[in-house]
Amino acid sequence: MKMMNDAATAPMSAEEMDANDNIRGFRERFHFPETKDGAEPIYFTGNSLGLMPKTARGYVDEELEEWAKLAVDAHVNARHPWLPYHEFLTEQMARIVGAEPSETVVMNSLTVNLHLMLVSFYRPTDRRHKIIIEKGAFPSDRYAVESQIKFHGFDPEISLVELAPREGESTLRTEDIVGRVESEGSSVATVLLGGVNYYTGQAFEMREITAAAHKIGAVAGFDLAHAAGNLELRMHDWDVDFAVWCSYKYLNGGPGAVAGAFVHERHADCQNMPRFAGWWGHDKATRFLMGPEFRPLTGAEGWQISNPPILQMAALRASLEIFEEAGMTALVAKSRRLTGYLEQLINELADDRISIITPRDPSQRGCQLSIRVRNGDRSLHERIVTRGVYADWREPDVIRAAPVPLYNSFRDVGRFVDVLKESLG
Ligand SMILES: *Cc1c(COP(=O)(O)O)cnc(C)c1O
Repeated sequence: MKMMNDAATAPMSAEEMDANDNIRGFRERFHFPETKDGAEPIYFTGNSLGLMPKTARGYVDEELEEWAKLAVDAHVNARHPWLPYHEFLTEQMARIVGAEPSETVVMNSLTVNLHLMLVSFYRPTDRRHKIIIEKGAFPSDRYAVESQIKFHGFDPEISLVELAPREGESTLRTEDIVGRVESEGSSVATVLLGGVNYYTGQAFEMREITAAAHKIGAVAGFDLAHAAGNLELRMHDWDVDFAVWCSYKYLNGGPGAVAGAFVHERHADCQNMPRFAGWWGHDKATRFLMGPEFRPLTGAEGWQISNPPILQMAALRASLEIFEEAGMTALVAKSRRLTGYLEQLINELADDRISIITPRDPSQRGCQLSIRVRNGDRSLHERIVTRGVYADWREPDVIRAAPVPLYNSFRDVGRFVDVLKESLG
């Protein structure tokens, strides 16, 4: 299936497209892994672990130095004082997910944040106790949700609703998601989907899904692990209740990077909302009076529990500054061309052993294409990996390839498809 603008773009070579790419320079800001034979790697696993910004080491070193020289005084006297350190990340992170700074906090890791959000946003009653998720959600999300249901004394067999694609289809239709939300109606407490499904690469229509959830009196939350830094997001405008995401995938924050959480401002002042409290969520003005009574900060910061890991946040700060410079609008514009080019070249292979399960509509995907391999022949993946390609295999039969607009080039895409073609034999 060809896109309308193919006629205009098809004659251009990968080299010409790279020359026309006004954000190509960002590639130089990242370390690429070394391959065995010294060949240039084709790194298409930024959806799993983003590359290291060259500035990250200096940012982490700076904090190590502050620790060495100032020790406890670094909390207040460091160039970037540790006490408010998470605040140095807030505005940039808020822009990435389309939120107000007061709605955004960088803390903990992803699944932890999901649990913390569910403590507040999944409060089942006998009448309203269901959570709707997508079938084939990332396992950690499913484990979290199932354990929350059990924690409240409900039965996942009854309270966990999993949306499956239609027979013969690989991805969900928005009309079916909305239809199911409506038909489950007042039994639903929470709708929780991925922003982008990690397996199929499908981007969900978050605004529509949120509106459907609200219409039946439920709350809507999204796991943006594969959406943050990949799509242009509007958490605030789409009226989403809560969201969580990690920072080591598209956001290049490094292994185990500190995650994010979004809480819509209409919940900012809900002092009586149940939550798991800790001192970092307590009013900053009186935190160090060390009083016994918890008074949560307004906004997303009120969900913090512990004082944060400064070294991890330093690495993330390096990365978010690059995002700030590039801007999500430019990144997504390039991403559409880059992934469109990958799709076009795979189509041109016209090999019936492989097919793309990611939606063809660019507005229903990010940069990742999930390539289904007939009969789950994993050896194809092994052959491309030995040729310097970083792409992953997901059971039973999918290769995920994510050309990332910050550091991948059109030439990478061309080389990837050459390798794929050779490997198909
Ligand atoms: C990557 C990913 C995770 C990983 O969870 P961690 O808590 O960061 O280990 C969870 N959920 C989704 C949807 C993911 O894509």
